[in-house]
Amino acid sequence: MIDFTLSQRDEAILENQREQAMLCRKYARYYDEHEEEFAPDVLPEADSFESKPLPETDSARDTNGAVMGMLTTMMQNYGDYTIRLRRGKGGLGNAALAASGTPEQVERWRGQTLAMAITEPGCGSDSKAIQATAVLDEATNEWILNGEKIFVTTGCRADGVVVWATLDKEAGRGGIKSFIVMKGTPGFDVTHKEKKLGIRADDTAAMVFRDCRIPRDHLLGGKESVSRKGGGGFKGVMKTFNMTRPAVGAIGIGIAQAALDFTKEELAREGVVIDYMAAPHQRSAIAEKLIEIEADIDAAVLDILHSAWLSGEAKPNNTEASIAKAKGGEVARTATQRCIGLLGSLGISREYLLEKWFRDSRITDIYEGTGQIQRLIIARDILGYSAAELS
Ligand SMILES: Cc1cc2nc3c(=O)[nH]c(=O)nc-3n(C[C@H](O)[C@H](O)[C@H](O)COP(=O)(O)OP(=O)(O)OC[C@H]3O[C@@H](n4cnc5c(N)ncnc54)[C@H](O)[C@@H]3O)c2cc1C
Repeated sequence: MIDFTLSQRDEAILENQREQAMLCRKYARYYDEHEEEFAPDVLPEADSFESKPLPETDSARDTNGAVMGMLTTMMQNYGDYTIRLRRGKGGLGNAALAASGTPEQVERWRGQTLAMAITEPGCGSDSKAIQATAVLDEATNEWILNGEKIFVTTGCRADGVVVWATLDKEAGRGGIKSFIVMKGTPGFDVTHKEKKLGIRADDTAAMVFRDCRIPRDHLLGGKESVSRKGGGGFKGVMKTFNMTRPAVGAIGIGIAQAALDFTKEELAREGVVIDYMAAPHQRSAIAEKLIEIEADIDAAVLDILHSAWLSGEAKPNNTEASIAKAKGGEVARTATQRCIGLLGSLGISREYLLEKWFRDSRITDIYEGTGQIQRLIIARDILGYSAAELS
């Protein structure tokens, strides 16, 4: 039975996360405004955050780890997206390594921050259209990579990158494999840092691979994955998204909750307080709108936790992960926008963070598959169509 009850220890962990996140919020504007360069680091080191001691033993019960992961992500982003700078090592490539790497590969690159490079100038949502190539040089036992990647989150800051490339363009999805390329490898260059609407605390990079040679064992999933279905191939790495898509929803919902709480506080100053016990016709229109946003956020939270719970129980969650991402991304986008609508000029003033949260939240409905693509996946799963039949 699905149960989201938290252990006492996990409640205490979340409380610590909340305090750290609220501290990071103080630096949110600084990082937003210093996007152009790598801003000097002003955030306190993670280990200098004061954490309250945690209960030693778990008196209640074990929380599903994936559920706890989502709650932590929401809490951190409730503080501010800036917390990503202090979340320690890890990028989307690390999730791919965990999902598809051999035990030796997982051990070898443990502790390194790995970005994930799929998107290309001519290929976004339709990731099977990848043009980057990987050719095996049998004589030297090396892969030779050629191609261009854009919009790689943490591409500048990462130690390396998991790159999608095709062994055979005619083979579509079947030809696509992923490779680990570390910074400093000749032929691998980060060429550009994007200037963005939001999430400016995080870098987004473009990169090129020109006759970039990497050892044969940098193929994710090992050499067997060339012939094996899944592994480091398209399907295997797509499974990464079943873990990370709910997390993107959770990022968005953390931001949306911050926006809503700020809006409620500001409106309360003006005397707008929600009376939950009153009948709808007895409440003000503004209170009614706040309740609608609140309900939307609650629904998204349930979708996100549901999909995470399934993954934590090792049950399939392909559809639920897409529902969590679609709902989380949409609510993040619309809730922050509606909060600006409720506060008017205060909502777009840079004196406050609401306008920034509006900008930061927008990406959660774009990367790791847009809202439209999530709906496509959900429709396929429900109707029983293949990707070829419904695209
Ligand atoms: C800040 C940021 C960070 C990113 N980080 C990464 C990263 O780390 N790694 C990485 O590889 N990529 C990353 N991306 C790229 C991101 O995943 C792509 O932008 C996304 O997949 C959409 O691709 P596209 O931009 O080419 O849009 P397109 O695929 O060209 O789509 C344009 C529009 O058409 C819609 N659309 C497309 N196909 C369909 C369809 N079949 N049915 C209905 N609607 C459709 C889309 O939903 C979208 O609204 C990042 C992007 C940004 C902006």
